[in-house]
Amino acid sequence: MTLNNLPPLREVIAEHALNARKSLGQNFLLDLNLTSKIARMAGDLSGHDVLEIGPGPGGLTRGLLMEGARRVVAIERDDRCLQALAEITQASDNRLHVISGDALEINPLDHMQSPIKVVANLPYNVGTELLIRWLTPENWPPFWDSLTLMFQKEVAQRIVAQPGSKAYGRLSILAQWRCNAKIVMEIPPQAFTPPPKVTSAVVHITRLDQPKFEADRKTLERVVGMAFGQRRKMLRASLKSIHPNIEDVLLASGVKPTERAEQLTIEQFCTIARNL
Ligand code: SAM
Repeated sequence: MTLNNLPPLREVIAEHALNARKSLGQNFLLDLNLTSKIARMAGDLSGHDVLEIGPGPGGLTRGLLMEGARRVVAIERDDRCLQALAEITQASDNRLHVISGDALEINPLDHMQSPIKVVANLPYNVGTELLIRWLTPENWPPFWDSLTLMFQKEVAQRIVAQPGSKAYGRLSILAQWRCNAKIVMEIPPQAFTPPPKVTSAVVHITRLDQPKFEADRKTLERVVGMAFGQRRKMLRASLKSIHPNIEDVLLASGVKPTERAEQLTIEQFCTIARNL
């Protein structure tokens, strides 16, 4: 058996009784043309190990392998999928390594080698948490070169949002401070089985070697968290508890104390963090 003559995903799902479970965020992609297209959005995979979270019946996994990934390491929580995934491992000359368990609990680095790209159709219930972890490691640069991730469109818009927009917030700053992020594809609900209620989008994030603007990560995260925690308030109020003379710190950073979080650029947040 090779990747090209594995059975269609509908048959795989029927054979292994993989009826989708909402509690696991299961909306499967069954069109292999589409999953290969998503895999291509991650760029050349031939020299990379790829981390996939939630392979399910393996549609995107097959796309990644067919697009030439050196190896795919896939973490799946639903044991019902393991048999179907084992067939892909066999058909790919063992280029697929599946880890059974919760992606929030497993360190994939025990199983992979640099350079690494992350590509996933993330389960909605853990997607944002995983993204934040990948964007805020203890040391920079992180273990990955790029993240190519599918989210609900609304989350994707928050990741790439610019100052002054409603979607701009903590996620935009964490994603854009040390990375470039863009939406590369939108995917309608009908592409999934079962169809979710909302449109999805693929975001491609590439890491920079250095942050765009200097700042201590923890201080920046604290400032941004507090500022957007009360985003309707003026900064002199939302950041009040961070410094006894916050108005002076803001003025010294070239920021009016009456401004609100969503008006500030990443550079301005970094200046405030440095001045604190
Ligand atoms: N990659 C497949 C596709 O594109 O068709 C399935 C994507 S589906 C949106 C999300 C997958 O993540 C499901 O297979 C689900 O079982 C799995 N999953 C959910 N929570 C998980 C977790 N905490 N750790 C690992 N996998 C998880």
